[in-house]
Amino acid sequence: MNPFSYKGWYGWILAVALLGLAGTAEAVVFRGLGLNEVMASHGFGPPAEYGKSAVYRSRTATVIFEASSRRVVVNGLTVYLNRSVMKGAGNWVISPVDAVDTIGAMLLPSRALRKASSFLVVLDPGHGGTDPGASNGQSRQEKKYTLDIAKRVRLRLRQSQVNVIMTRDRDMAMGLDERCWRTDKCGGDVFVSIHLNASRNHATSGIETYIVPAPGYPTTAEAESRLPGSRTKSCPGNRFDGANAVLAQYLHKGMIAHTGAPDRGIRRARFYVIRNASCPAALVECGFLSNTREVGKMDDASYRDRIAEGITRGLLTYLNRVRLQHLPPVRNM
Ligand SMILES: [Zn+2]
Repeated sequence: MNPFSYKGWYGWILAVALLGLAGTAEAVVFRGLGLNEVMASHGFGPPAEYGKSAVYRSRTATVIFEASSRRVVVNGLTVYLNRSVMKGAGNWVISPVDAVDTIGAMLLPSRALRKASSFLVVLDPGHGGTDPGASNGQSRQEKKYTLDIAKRVRLRLRQSQVNVIMTRDRDMAMGLDERCWRTDKCGGDVFVSIHLNASRNHATSGIETYIVPAPGYPTTAEAESRLPGSRTKSCPGNRFDGANAVLAQYLHKGMIAHTGAPDRGIRRARFYVIRNASCPAALVECGFLSNTREVGKMDDASYRDRIAEGITRGLLTYLNRVRLQHLPPVRNM
């Protein structure tokens, strides 16, 4: 087709018009909330905009959004929203689920933790027995590191008089369904699955914390443009969406602060154990076994101690927050 002929130009104009319509349709379908109003409800004034980012500051917090991106930085921590914020005329737009269960939960945990309880922590060291998980040579298997880190967390929690159980406390195979079943049977109030990562890119390093995406929203591994998760129904773990975000925030903050490892963000995945959790749950990826430098650090017991300290701090902050919810209100005499 010759684009300079009459028919050719007609084709081009039609194509551009259709693309424009598709963009409009996307904007209409996305029934979001005004970001300024959402942030104002948490005490933030109008944002300072720098090109593609909008920075909201209050006396105690800073939140940085990026246009057409799921990535947001909440008080220095990287978080992935269920859906990208969109830059509209005069105001940006955020999905209602993120306004309430991601940003809302992180800025105002008390609302998200109203129904949470704090009696029993369940630690879930990933893999075990015939399932080594990721590996880097014979002796460096994910299952060994996860068990070691979980035991270090358990010791610290016990020293803080916290009730804690582990789904496995030795090198044994255990199905994902059994991990969930045990947590439910024991009445676990908060669940943390401990894993190590691996990537084809051997330079990748750092810490990731995972929670389930809201029903119908994609994982962070999926392309958002097609919303491939739009057919996904609610899973048991979605009952705790707000509490999951609060838990992930504290765990991730603790781990980054105590290790100094790169912050790869609070991400979204429908991993079996968090998708089917009977209580607020998160899965932490403590580092990359595919990265020689990070393996070197992981081989040092003092580094595993720092990871464990980060997870413990995160859990203790979470438990204290939950307990605050259940204190009787103070009456002024
Ligand atoms: Zn794993």
